[in-house]
Amino acid sequence: MAKLINGSEIAKKIRGELAEKVKKEKLSPNFAVVLCGDNEASKVYVRIKSKACEEVGIEFQEYHLKEETTQEELFKLIDKLNEDETIDGILIQAPLPKHLNYREAADRIDPEKDVDGFNSYNVGRLTIGDPTFIPCTPYGIMKMLEECKIDLIGKKAVIVGRSNIVGKPMAQCLINASATVTICHSKTKDLKKELKDADIVIAAVGVEALVKADMLKEGAIVIDVGMNRNKEGKLCGDVDFTEAEKVASYITPVPGGVGPMTVAMLMNNVIKAHCNKISK
Ligand code: NDP
Repeated sequence: MAKLINGSEIAKKIRGELAEKVKKEKLSPNFAVVLCGDNEASKVYVRIKSKACEEVGIEFQEYHLKEETTQEELFKLIDKLNEDETIDGILIQAPLPKHLNYREAADRIDPEKDVDGFNSYNVGRLTIGDPTFIPCTPYGIMKMLEECKIDLIGKKAVIVGRSNIVGKPMAQCLINASATVTICHSKTKDLKKELKDADIVIAAVGVEALVKADMLKEGAIVIDVGMNRNKEGKLCGDVDFTEAEKVASYITPVPGGVGPMTVAMLMNNVIKAHCNKISK
């Protein structure tokens, strides 16, 4: 039976360490989140971030723009936050309303305040192996693997999903850690064949129970990023957890796995941005 990687516990420890640092070093980090429109899930994510900020001692400011906001209005707010020296980190809550361009908005953020790590400059820095801000979900996964003392050198890692926020930066993090990396996606011909000899499987798809136990190698480390609702409305991942935990050596649950780690690493990045600023 697999060992459970308890993301909630590890994240709590990280938040505690960050709170301690803020207190001890008398830091005053300040974080701005831009929410556009009335997506209910986005509102929940913003609340979760606000609560974590409160716990760690980060000043939190929410800028709630209306659904009809234009790209120019969004740019204007980003420019204002970029120029505001009291603001350390800026995050644009995705998804934006359909008429707005998220990529252009992310690229408008000052790279030194881009705590999500999605600005093209920071994506490039991660790619060359000298990151400033690592995107929070892959960063959280790397921390979990580190916490479990998993040696990544030469390990075969297979990532399912190639999004800019999870799959691709995850691949970069694992390459930088000297794993051998394969990325699968919706056009992959034989997912089972790709997964079958993986030492580490990272599922970031958004399809309930896509990864089945019979696709896994005995003793694989299984990280489930997916956040789906099953037909009973219960939160569940991309991995068939009940069966996979009988085959895997380590596994993350959903909820209580990757999700809380993402938020903890966001807090880490905001404090990093603040420390970078005051050390100048
Ligand atoms: P995207 O929708 O942007 O990407 C999904 C990826 O999965 C795509 O690359 C897609 O391929 C691939 N895919 C879809 N169907 C299949 C399939 N049948 N077989 C193989 N690959 C497939 O999603 P995100 O990366 O944004 O998120 C993935 C999941 O992770 C979601 O459930 C999301 O809610 C969750 N998530 C959780 C976070 C957390 O903190 N826990 C943070 C971020 C996301 P293609 O590119 O070909 O379309």
